[in-house]
Amino acid sequence: MRRNKVDKSKILDSIFQPKSIAVVGASATPGKIGYTVVKNLIESKYEGKVYPINPSATEILGLKCYPSIEEVAGEIDAAVITTPAKTVLGITEQCGKKGVKGFIVITSGFGEVGDHELEEQIVETANRFGMRVLGPNIVGVLSNSGKMNASFAPFLPFNGKAALVSQSGALLIALDAASYTRGVGFDKLVSIGNMSDIDIADTIEWLNKDDQTFCISLYVEGFKNGRSFIDVCKKAQKPIIALKAGVSAHGAAAAASHTGSLAGAAKIYGSAFQQAGVVQATDLDNLFDRTLALSLQPSLRGEHLLIITNGGGVGVLATDAAERYGIPLTFAPEDVQAELKKHMPDFGSAKNPVDITGQAGTEWYVDAVRYAMAHPWVDGLVVLYCETAVSNPQEIAEGIHQAVLESGIKDKPITVSYVGGEKSDNAMKWLVEHGIPAYAAPDTAINAMAALREYARVQEMLNDKEVIYDGVDREKALKIIADARADGRDSLTEVEAKQVFAAYGLPITQNYLAKTEDQAVELAQKIGYPVVMKVVSPDILHKSDAGGVKVNVKDEQGVREAFKTIMANSKAYKANANIHGIVIQEMAPWGTEVILGSVNDATFGPTMMFGLGGIFVEVLKDVTFRVTPVSSNQATRMIGEIRGAPILAGARGEKPRDRDALAKTICQYSNMVLDLADEITESDANPVLVYENGQGLKVVDARIILKKK
Ligand code: ADP
Ligand code: MG
Repeated sequence: MRRNKVDKSKILDSIFQPKSIAVVGASATPGKIGYTVVKNLIESKYEGKVYPINPSATEILGLKCYPSIEEVAGEIDAAVITTPAKTVLGITEQCGKKGVKGFIVITSGFGEVGDHELEEQIVETANRFGMRVLGPNIVGVLSNSGKMNASFAPFLPFNGKAALVSQSGALLIALDAASYTRGVGFDKLVSIGNMSDIDIADTIEWLNKDDQTFCISLYVEGFKNGRSFIDVCKKAQKPIIALKAGVSAHGAAAAASHTGSLAGAAKIYGSAFQQAGVVQATDLDNLFDRTLALSLQPSLRGEHLLIITNGGGVGVLATDAAERYGIPLTFAPEDVQAELKKHMPDFGSAKNPVDITGQAGTEWYVDAVRYAMAHPWVDGLVVLYCETAVSNPQEIAEGIHQAVLESGIKDKPITVSYVGGEKSDNAMKWLVEHGIPAYAAPDTAINAMAALREYARVQEMLNDKEVIYDGVDREKALKIIADARADGRDSLTEVEAKQVFAAYGLPITQNYLAKTEDQAVELAQKIGYPVVMKVVSPDILHKSDAGGVKVNVKDEQGVREAFKTIMANSKAYKANANIHGIVIQEMAPWGTEVILGSVNDATFGPTMMFGLGGIFVEVLKDVTFRVTPVSSNQATRMIGEIRGAPILAGARGEKPRDRDALAKTICQYSNMVLDLADEITESDANPVLVYENGQGLKVVDARIILKKK
């Protein structure tokens, strides 16, 4: 709320490319952070004014030192704060009065050690003056293009086209150094710390407009607001890649229903990245390797990957890797093969991988790369090279680069792998400097290509059909919930939950509540035999466990018997259970059992779960999650990605199940829990019976747990 007072992105300029910087807590003592920051600004050749602030010094590292912010005559765009935590609030006020815009708080000792109040006061004060806060508890901000090392990290990173945003300060410093040895270049490094004000989403929003950033690389521990992250990423025009560490605290209340206990926070993050159009990395190496490719190359927009190699072994390794990373190879078409055959010895192979053999010199590489790059069948190219006695690694690197240029193709990606010694290493450096990502292992070059494919895929997924929800009766749902609350309950009975489901268009069984045996008989006749009978009690959530379910009840006598048995069982199960009656239901024909559910995640709000029912969910936990609302593309993907997917597709001679109806129901369900997010904390439909194609599905059991109010 408070953020609305401040024009966000403009002020972020003052953080990421300030025109002048005051270092509050600047020091003349080497080793102190206040000394290091001033030294770093000087050494990075920062071109704006630097004002060291310290009442007990007159000069620091040759710069005039000021006793306080007020004493500075000129404008101060950003202030970097390195003084102890207890001083920061006072300094915030001073900076505010001076008209500082970017407030970069390196100091730690706030929220991360439990002092949230002080942190909030600082943000409030800063925002009141129109300042934005980066941090606290950060290393600082580094920018090659801005010639600015406003941090206590030792030097600017290896120069390049990516921006790294890190929630861990120590890791940022380590990766800063590693950028040189790994040869992965960054224009900016941003340490984001406690995210008291400026969070990952704000930073991405700014970097998306930054013309020096071509790929946004994230080290994430957790978000405060997962939904704003998704929204910002969806709009971003450049690739974003995230490495997620740890598992967030799952904020949902104790798992009263099934979904709660199955909800894995890590799974939700993975899905959220996908839904946001964000590529994922598996570890730090992978983050570096993929960042390099994403910052230098266009996405891989089709399935046809061609590998060119001078060694059979690395070709096979790369082929295996391609399958492992989801971009399996296919044979090149005849015309491609015929042409490539002209540029290799007889014993070479023009299939895919294209093996131009160990005799290959620069010209063969040039010809093969130029031709392949330009051929419409080829969507992307991985070039492998094993160092040989008959070839020159550097010459080949230059040849590959030249061939790409000559092909005139700019919208297809290429990655390279050299296996060899020092000459190969140097040649790879040269390639990277010339915009071609090169890696020391074929596996890595393929993985980088897979990242470019993943980027294209997640972006395609964002172009979704709009789901139309007709006939939603929100008022009716709210009324049912309000009545249950008035009754002093925080859960709905199956009958009530189904009414809520029906109000959102979900296909439910016919249900009638019987209070007496005679009424039960009457209602069973109305529905038609066979029927299902179940206890309706807010005190019995798992009805079968209580002996409270009878299926396939065939006649009047059966109804009377079942009525008595269910009542007796339920009372035996819980002596003073409040029993509303017994529900008489149509007996749904057999279908494949699936479970739909929702749980409220602390970070992402209502999330949707889907899986196969029965032992698949109980034992195998074969379920998948999405942040709501679930788009139709995502719903289809959910159905396809569980291990049990072949069962729905029609395994072992079974007819395929109605997955279109199922996808629609997932969308409707997700819409329901999002729309009722203030009311519902957890819910499930377990089971839903799914029928053959065209026959739809039916919800036979329903459960809703309300938010405590
Ligand atoms: P529980 O509270 O034990 O989960 P359910 O309502 O899910 O109770 O009923 C238990 C099982 O009975 C279901 O898993 C399903 O196999 C079957 N069942 C319940 N209702 C129906 C129905 N209307 N038609 C067909 N089968 C049903
Ligand atoms: Mg059930």
